[in-house]
Amino acid sequence: MTLADLGLPDGVAERLHEEGIESLYPPQAAAVEAGLLDDESVVASVPTASGKTLVAELAMLSALERGGTALYVVPLRALASEKQAEFERWTDLGYEVGVSTGNYDADGEWLASRDIIVATSEKVDSLVRNDAPWIDDLACVVADEVHLVDDTERGPTLEVTLAKLRALNPGLQVVALSATVGNADDVARWLDAELVESTWRPIDLKRGVHVGSAINFEDEGRREVSVPPGGRQTSALVADTVDEGGSALVFVNSRRNAESAADRLADVVAERLPDGERAELAGVAAEIRDDSDTETSADLADAVARGAAFHHAGLSPTQRSLVEDAFRDRLVRCIAATPTLAAGVNTPARRVIVRDWRRYDGDYGGMKPLDVLEVHQMMGRAGRPGLDPYGEAVLTAKSTEEYEDLVERYVEAEPEPVRSKLAAEPALRTHLLATVASGFARSREGLLEFLGRTLYAEQTDGRGELTRVTDRALDYLAANDFLERSGSDGGELRVTSLGHTVSRLYLDPMSAATVLDGLAWAEREDREPTPLGLYHLVARTPDMYRLYLKSGDRETYTEVADEREDELLGPTPSEFDDVAFEAWLSALKTARLLEDWANEADEDRITERYGVGPGDVRGKTEAAEWLLGAAESLAGEVGSPTAPVRDAKRRVADGVTAELLPLTEVRQVGRKRARRLYERGIERRADLREAAKSTVLAALQGRRRTAERVLENAGRPDPSMDGVDEADEGGSAPEHGFARASSDDTGNADDGQSSLGDF
Ligand code: ADP
Repeated sequence: MTLADLGLPDGVAERLHEEGIESLYPPQAAAVEAGLLDDESVVASVPTASGKTLVAELAMLSALERGGTALYVVPLRALASEKQAEFERWTDLGYEVGVSTGNYDADGEWLASRDIIVATSEKVDSLVRNDAPWIDDLACVVADEVHLVDDTERGPTLEVTLAKLRALNPGLQVVALSATVGNADDVARWLDAELVESTWRPIDLKRGVHVGSAINFEDEGRREVSVPPGGRQTSALVADTVDEGGSALVFVNSRRNAESAADRLADVVAERLPDGERAELAGVAAEIRDDSDTETSADLADAVARGAAFHHAGLSPTQRSLVEDAFRDRLVRCIAATPTLAAGVNTPARRVIVRDWRRYDGDYGGMKPLDVLEVHQMMGRAGRPGLDPYGEAVLTAKSTEEYEDLVERYVEAEPEPVRSKLAAEPALRTHLLATVASGFARSREGLLEFLGRTLYAEQTDGRGELTRVTDRALDYLAANDFLERSGSDGGELRVTSLGHTVSRLYLDPMSAATVLDGLAWAEREDREPTPLGLYHLVARTPDMYRLYLKSGDRETYTEVADEREDELLGPTPSEFDDVAFEAWLSALKTARLLEDWANEADEDRITERYGVGPGDVRGKTEAAEWLLGAAESLAGEVGSPTAPVRDAKRRVADGVTAELLPLTEVRQVGRKRARRLYERGIERRADLREAAKSTVLAALQGRRRTAERVLENAGRPDPSMDGVDEADEGGSAPEHGFARASSDDTGNADDGQSSLGDF
């Protein structure tokens, strides 16, 4: 089917033509035939790299032409910017693209002026709860990676969000993009959509298993790849691809494994690098080092300098995109990645090696085999259309038995069906409260009717199970005063003012209950909450991912718990209650990380002490800031003191002791700059307006442009640094009685400000 015959909106065919897209891929053509351009809802269940994005774009552009707004729902924040960049090419046609991913803020009014909005499902859910006005103008919603409704953590939000959008807007066109799954027809039935199913790929994929000295492919082909004595399969497979001018993506099961594999594979790649590329790689490595001064960055930079990299959720966003770009530019030849990379990010490689097909799972009690769907998604990353003759996806087996197992388990197997996870308790109590709070349902009956629109209802027989789990969640909400039941059978539902606050704050009701308990306990015991106590309190909620206890941690944190028991907001659980006690200690470990950060400890000291990456420090502090903001609102709602909560929040947000808060309020003054200014007697915004410019300039390490901007932000009428010299540095010996960032100020080019420490 040629583009010109499709009746696409003006300019679209021309634009695609310029990009070398002349005709539709078969699954795209099938979607168009199913009514994609004419407002029909479509579920497209097709392999990775077969052009799902264009399916979405054609639907969105047609919907925009009919009038209205299009919404593209992404499963991961990291994908939002990638999609935004892709869609921005339509600004030439006069369409504005907006992206909204901050999971924690509710403000989205500016989005009303955009034509295409990219957002995570959590964000859309929160916008719906807050009545964002543009929701009513939606003409088309795209759900990317809709098979993730199967995900216990995030699936229910996607499911409920789609159900709500459809309930609000009965004529809404839904385009759901899915990996190839066993039961795409369930999803299509749920969404009243036409089903397009296909296994077509733009580039052939050869799947196989390496055992002994060869890869055995499913089509019976073989490729010799011998492993030298004492050598590793993965290294041999990477060397083989790089020798032929290809690149490799190696999937492993943990961050640590990704890092060690990258280090080893860098040796394999380094000896094969053309000289000309070393300098370019050194440049990328330098950018990675500049981004953050932690051990993870140093290791990543070392690997990149040698042509390999690791990729996991502990990287900062900048590091992640540096690695992805260098891989797409064929500079970095090999990435060792955790499965996060398989989810959507467009980094195809000639050869994909799935090294670890098991992953540790605490609930399972050991190493659990990955789902077929997940392994197929990884395999689907193989082959760059136009660059590689075909893609190869390889599993590795140590023995004939393992070989046979892998062939059966992953090469010949069909992906699992997608199952709704809505009935999981945290999900259900959160969504039920929100559904009543936002007026979607006012009675138990109404709620059950709304739930009838979910995939969960589609997949369960009768109403028995649905009613049972709903009643249990309603009981929980009522017991915690978030909701009141009235009427003869308790069927009338009303959300209390507290319940409205909880829903608006986007909290799991159990998190709110935990926080309220802790605050009430402090009042009863007549204690002023300390930052550590508050960090511990929010780390105990189900909305915070706590740090794991490693070996020796149980003893360490049992001691900390003893020493600082007075600060913890609630009775310490008995050591004999293993689950509760461990959770208490891991919350304490998390709280100590937050406290270190708020005491100005250096980022690299924190990553080392807690065995985490820079991305984790950022993730924890952001979550704590959000949860403490929510705790502040809850405290206000129930009449508890808010000041201690607000201070703890501000300190963890800026990573500073209380005395620096007046300085970090000034834009472009992060924790390190604030400390240096403070050491020179500049303690608050007003001081910046009065201080000698030479002192400010010295504190900001001679960076004139920065100094001018800081002064401007502080409201100084004459911020210019023209002709100003740095003050003499002699004799300013600071005195501090607290653990703080060593101000070794190495004068590195970025002034430490772009490190994650200063976000
Ligand atoms: P998916 O989302 O299915 O994984 P993408 O949408 O990222 O795949 O598409 C993969 C690549 O194929 C992109 O680089 C895209 O530009 C290209 N592509 C998509 N449709 C066509 C087409 N009809 N003709 C040529 N190239 C296409």
